[in-house]
Amino acid sequence: MSTDLKALYPATRLAAVTDAVRAAGLGALLLTPGPDLRYVTGYDAKQLERLTCLAVPATGEPFLLVPRLELGAALASPVSTLGVEVVTWGETEDAFAIAAARLGAPDVVALSDRMWALNVLKFRDAFPAATQVLASTVLSGLRIRKSAVEVAALREAGAAIDRVHAKVPAWLKPGATEREIGAKIAEAILGEGHVQVDFVIVASGPNGASPHHDVSDRALERGDVVVVDIGGTMESGYCSDCTRVYSIGEPPAEFAAYFTVLREAQEAACASVRPGVTAESVDAAARDIIAAAGYGEWFIHRTGHGIGLESHEDPYIVAGNATPLAPGMAFSVEPGIYPGPHGARIEDIVVCTEDGYERLNNAPRDLVIA
Ligand code: ZN
Ligand code: ZN
Ligand code: ZN
Repeated sequence: MSTDLKALYPATRLAAVTDAVRAAGLGALLLTPGPDLRYVTGYDAKQLERLTCLAVPATGEPFLLVPRLELGAALASPVSTLGVEVVTWGETEDAFAIAAARLGAPDVVALSDRMWALNVLKFRDAFPAATQVLASTVLSGLRIRKSAVEVAALREAGAAIDRVHAKVPAWLKPGATEREIGAKIAEAILGEGHVQVDFVIVASGPNGASPHHDVSDRALERGDVVVVDIGGTMESGYCSDCTRVYSIGEPPAEFAAYFTVLREAQEAACASVRPGVTAESVDAAARDIIAAAGYGEWFIHRTGHGIGLESHEDPYIVAGNATPLAPGMAFSVEPGIYPGPHGARIEDIVVCTEDGYERLNNAPRDLVIA
């Protein structure tokens, strides 16, 4: 693979996380399988009823608790290069009791945001005196700023999804259903280098007015506008997400009027990105233009979301989020206008750089007439 996993998941990260655990006054950080565990260790472990958990105590050495039958998978991951102790537990043992015996009685434990309730409640019993908080209280500040290697992984994901969009026009034929086109797109998402299809939205005609439409058995008709929002996960663990709008022949006149406004709004929001501006000001850059043109009531969602190991993560580009942007923050800029009986959204992934921004999607943003 082109991405260097050791550089993407550096061994130094665990030490930085331990420092953050101490600085936050936590007793221990407990990470079960999911994006937090992968970020800290590179281990893309499966969520199972058997407990896999990285424990990072404020004092003492971190350890990874794994079911004995998962040991091979754990050691095949970058975990084996981190120098972290791997503790196995057998089928008849109580994994939570093993964690409790090693960690004592911490006052505060942070649990990965996506931990199953099954495990959250068992950890409550294992540490009855501890307050439970979310791991994002310590990890979000680290995950939100991507390293150069992480940005490279997102750039690779962006180029891969751009190649999928380049294939879409040929599939948009009158009579083809959204589901048939979606299946071809899903195949191309894998064919262009992703290991997982995260979502495929093919929203034709009236379905374009529903931002999170999926696919349906509706057949495309001449004159339809088609919103295609697609994304997947690369072998690196990093995600793609890109929306483009197509039309089968000439679009309706009233559509062309608001698409021009949308195009301008998306451009202005991207151009506003630089260190120090707030997340909410990027939202306002798009929203002000759409509102001034009279379409404000049809822009019914935030302008964007962060992206990395998850396709939706911090920072959210939304009114009320005064987080100042900083180099390495990566997020979508995806304003939309949905008046019906059609709609439109244009979406690029953008990274804040030292002095501005870089777009990671470069497929043509103008309406593509198929
Ligand atoms: Zn969305
Ligand atoms: Zn999207
Ligand atoms: Zn998105």
